[in-house]
Amino acid sequence: MEFLSKMLEPASVKQKPALFLDRDGVINIEKNYLHKKEDFDFMDGIFDLCQYYLDKGYYIIVVTNQSGIARKYYSQKDFIKLTSWMLDVFKEHGISIDKVYHCPHHPDISGECECRKPKAGMLFEAAKDFSIDLVNSILIGDSERDIEAAHKAGLKETYLFTSEPQETQASRNIHTLKELLC
Ligand SMILES: [Mg+2]
Ligand SMILES: [Zn+2]
Repeated sequence: MEFLSKMLEPASVKQKPALFLDRDGVINIEKNYLHKKEDFDFMDGIFDLCQYYLDKGYYIIVVTNQSGIARKYYSQKDFIKLTSWMLDVFKEHGISIDKVYHCPHHPDISGECECRKPKAGMLFEAAKDFSIDLVNSILIGDSERDIEAAHKAGLKETYLFTSEPQETQASRNIHTLKELLC
């Protein structure tokens, strides 16, 4: 009977950890207010990294601040277009990203919001949409803001992707994405 009731548990009860990725400076080389695919250069090792965590059973979720939208450097539509192109390139590499969350706000322009990192709004939103084991999830960011957001959401494993060693609250500094494949 106990076995049967386990079998009948809805699939949504089973939590999986997520690999949370910042976009600019992690998925692609950081360029200020990037919004065109011509300027989008994928980071070395990003596809292998995603494949590695997919194989381990992680969700892959992008959480990105896009204040360029509030600043009107580019539109929501530009962002969505670039995102759908990016997701297609991932698919060509056999990787399906579960979801991309973005914050289009900037406090000076559109007022305070709950989604802009270092707040954890986007991670909590993801946890509402998917059955995510937050504590055992991982975040990779290139800014202390990303790390702060992750810690607010209860993640323990965080990596600051940086070319130079930096003071960080993250579990560790990484200089290449390949360092995480072991
Ligand atoms: Mg970044
Ligand atoms: Zn926001």
